[in-house]
Amino acid sequence: MNSKLIAMTAMMAAGASAAASDAPDGMRPNPNVIVILADDLGYGDIGCYGSRFISTPNIDALAREGVRFTNAYAPASTSSPSRYSLLTGKYAWRRNVGILPADAPLTIGSDELTLPALFRRNGYATALVGKWHLGLGSPDRPVDFNSSIAGGPLDVGFDYAYFFPATNDRVPCVYIENDRVEGLDPSDPIEVSYRHKVGSDPTGKENPELLTLKPIWGHDATIVNGISRIGWMSGGHNARWDDSQMAGNLLSHLLDYVEAHKDRPFFVYYAPNNAHEPRVPSAPFRGKSAAGIYGDVIEEFDYCVGELVAALKERDLYDNTIIVVTSDNAPMIKEGYDDGAFENIGFHDPYGDMRGEKYSLYEGGTRVPFVYSWPAGLDRPFEQTQRFGFLDLKSTLAGLLGFSLTEAEAADGVDGSALFTSVSAPVYREYILTQNNGGDIALRLGDWKYIAPRRGAGSELYNLAADPHELHDLSLACPQESRKFRKIIERDSLGRGK
Ligand code: CA
Repeated sequence: MNSKLIAMTAMMAAGASAAASDAPDGMRPNPNVIVILADDLGYGDIGCYGSRFISTPNIDALAREGVRFTNAYAPASTSSPSRYSLLTGKYAWRRNVGILPADAPLTIGSDELTLPALFRRNGYATALVGKWHLGLGSPDRPVDFNSSIAGGPLDVGFDYAYFFPATNDRVPCVYIENDRVEGLDPSDPIEVSYRHKVGSDPTGKENPELLTLKPIWGHDATIVNGISRIGWMSGGHNARWDDSQMAGNLLSHLLDYVEAHKDRPFFVYYAPNNAHEPRVPSAPFRGKSAAGIYGDVIEEFDYCVGELVAALKERDLYDNTIIVVTSDNAPMIKEGYDDGAFENIGFHDPYGDMRGEKYSLYEGGTRVPFVYSWPAGLDRPFEQTQRFGFLDLKSTLAGLLGFSLTEAEAADGVDGSALFTSVSAPVYREYILTQNNGGDIALRLGDWKYIAPRRGAGSELYNLAADPHELHDLSLACPQESRKFRKIIERDSLGRGK
């Protein structure tokens, strides 16, 4: 740990309410923390990770001044389990959390010490801006979008939340501010179903002539803005979002939050819609990238990061703000809509030359860009090649900032903070487990990659040093390793591992 950080950590340990004037060298203790989680952004989609056809100068600048991780893993290759693990520090596969239907109840217990709850306990204001997708309401009290929504972000550690309930391809296509749908006209109540059609709005299946974006599969229910969605909704017409303005709208709420909280430490989980389908960039970004519409929405995402950084600098907050930029899982280029992304992506490779994509247990599914910046807390920028799993972010931020965390509160998380301050930090955990949407598990230990047996398939074993593309399955040739790794996973499935 560098001397500057030791001084700061000691300051922070002295209490969350330490005044700005107590800090050495004019630095403020309790840095602001902003975790930026892109949706379906691949390892190779950022300039500093090798993208030549998508321009991301703002994220590249953060990496130049901070730490660029080259072996960072999302906990899962799909949204809900990855986000669940980020916010709780728990393996989602133990709790059967996969992609949640939009009417799923809240998956996180209100008594859990979540990532935002940790910050709140340490005197921070806490906010969610963006995608939720972790369920709303409870089994005995399903969500009514027309009244106060109980069982959501406000119940698990966020003081403020401006969010969309599930994904941008699912109904209801509305924003929720704290516990109320924004802009809802009570005389046009919302009804939502994932089982049958409700109301009389046209659907993609019945009225394909009304579509501006053609669905490929499963996205043919209620049409909102010319795009048919997963699920049916009626009502709430005034409250429905405009897809092309979603990134900008979320950004403006984020910037309002920063302005309103510039005088006290804040933690923000900023989870934009980009680059998830439907990909609908705002006009200035349409056609801007050299990788088709797929690149356009990523350039828009980078622009939002740049606007955030500019706002922090204007308020003299940038130096003492921790910013993390990463992604919940890899993309699938052609998935729900025929938007031309696959046809127009050109020579761009979102997977950084790795095998796998969204839903996959191969490296391309879960290895993600991960950039960390904290100018006041870092002696010099560097590239971190150690493996880091962001299921550990809660324990790691606690370690960086001197927050106490009991073993039970840490859950499955391990403190990897040494990796964030030193290029030569030792291995902080023996192995990293990742999962696919069905809860199948892959293990990364040293150069080894083991994929546990799945329904209808045996195990797989790869040596990534010799075979980075995971083409040569060594499970028959190296049974001892396979056995060892299977035992680790069995132990973890009983909740005894770390
Ligand atoms: Ca995702």
